[in-house]
Amino acid sequence: MMSSQVLVLNRHFVPVHVTSLRHALCMLYRGIAKVVDHQYELFDFQSWAALSVALGEEHIGMVNRAIRVPRVVLLQVFDRLPRRPVRFSRLNVYLRDQNLCQYCGRNFHRSDLNLDHVIPVSLGGKTEWDNVVCSCVECNLKKGGRTPEQARMRLIRKPTKPPWTFFFATMSRPPYYEKWKPFLTMVDYSYWNTELKD
Ligand SMILES: [Zn+2]
Repeated sequence: MMSSQVLVLNRHFVPVHVTSLRHALCMLYRGIAKVVDHQYELFDFQSWAALSVALGEEHIGMVNRAIRVPRVVLLQVFDRLPRRPVRFSRLNVYLRDQNLCQYCGRNFHRSDLNLDHVIPVSLGGKTEWDNVVCSCVECNLKKGGRTPEQARMRLIRKPTKPPWTFFFATMSRPPYYEKWKPFLTMVDYSYWNTELKD
């Protein structure tokens, strides 16, 4: 239980890390973090420990009482955890492009998407964030070994390097708690939000 996982958000409610319950409790106790509940309400260690434990709810025994298991905590200090660089992986490109073909804009299962070099490798295109996009088979065939201009196809948006790590997606099997969900969708929100400002 103490090594089970807790989602860590920065002060902007953006997920930055996953830590152990043991470490999360330590941060709570030292005032470095607060618990966030499903209604986005914040609790310090004292107020969290004072909450009653409902029947069937996850809890841990602390000294002489039971306290609820915090599954999401918010850092009280600014950018304490270093940002890790985004791994340039197939999965992260799919995540960035939201499983949408970047030419026709339609949504596909990952198995029906390819990675396409916007400027083909044969024309000097690099395998980098700003030259690789998701593409469906149909658009891939239509484009062939040409640039979008030559093929008269338009990208639905310009590919760029995502602003942060999709840390939860880089795990082999993401441990996923129901209580993390509202905050993980913030990833999409913040991600798209950041892109639109550029
Ligand atoms: Zn397509």
